[in-house]
Amino acid sequence: MSRFEIIPLFSGSSGNSTLVVAGGKNILIDAGRNCKQICTALSGTDIKPEDIDYVFVTHSHHDHTDAIDVFRRKYKVPVYGTANTLYYISRKSTKPHPDSDDIEIEEGETVLLADDLAVKAISTPHDAPGSVCYKIVSGDRSVMIMTDLGYVTDEIIADAYGCDVILIEANYDQMMLVYGGYPEELKSRIAGRWGHLSNDACARAVFDLYEHGTRKFILGHLSANNNTREAAFETVTGFMKDEGLVEGRDYFIKVANRYDPTEGTVVS
Ligand SMILES: [Zn+2]
Ligand SMILES: [Zn+2]
Repeated sequence: MSRFEIIPLFSGSSGNSTLVVAGGKNILIDAGRNCKQICTALSGTDIKPEDIDYVFVTHSHHDHTDAIDVFRRKYKVPVYGTANTLYYISRKSTKPHPDSDDIEIEEGETVLLADDLAVKAISTPHDAPGSVCYKIVSGDRSVMIMTDLGYVTDEIIADAYGCDVILIEANYDQMMLVYGGYPEELKSRIAGRWGHLSNDACARAVFDLYEHGTRKFILGHLSANNNTREAAFETVTGFMKDEGLVEGRDYFIKVANRYDPTEGTVVS
């Protein structure tokens, strides 16, 4: 069986990038922060920046795209994204780049990268046009990275069912957001149908996904101001405990680190 592993390089509202090693290829899902920080994070893994074969971008928000312009010019990596996302990146680019390196994908499309490696883009309800999340399939194993979504749509959950590992958003603690210092308008945006998943919504989804076969979860994209690692972990494991399920026995959860790589999770 070829290596299939997911390693979040960093995760949170401050910047996101996830390395997926699958089917003999190295894929970056999103490239937030900056090129140097991506390279520093990769140095904590056994994959070098020049070993990255593809970058897939979920949406235009800066915490997912800030490093793309420099990274792709330096390492000549093809960038996949929806038309809206690629348009945004090209407008933000500081230097010209060959458009041929951009590969446009449709929402709902599956890209075959190798005989046993496919990536599917699934539309996400989020306040960026053309926003998607990705499912990576290699042989009979699969992983889903689902962050930046206001709610879990029927389409997303259908694709997530049965995945071996799922990186799912646990963006905010309900109470921390409500009683926190954000302006009311921003609070409404975050909690709205085009915003982010709360810890509670994440917990409900994790249970649903568990019931459909997933045993390994990574909680990611935590807000720096409206969440803590403990709140995210405890909300999800508490919900599962009420259903009689114990973390470490029935299923496994990691919370992705904000600024440095999280220990890799083998997809099996
Ligand atoms: Zn976003
Ligand atoms: Zn984001």
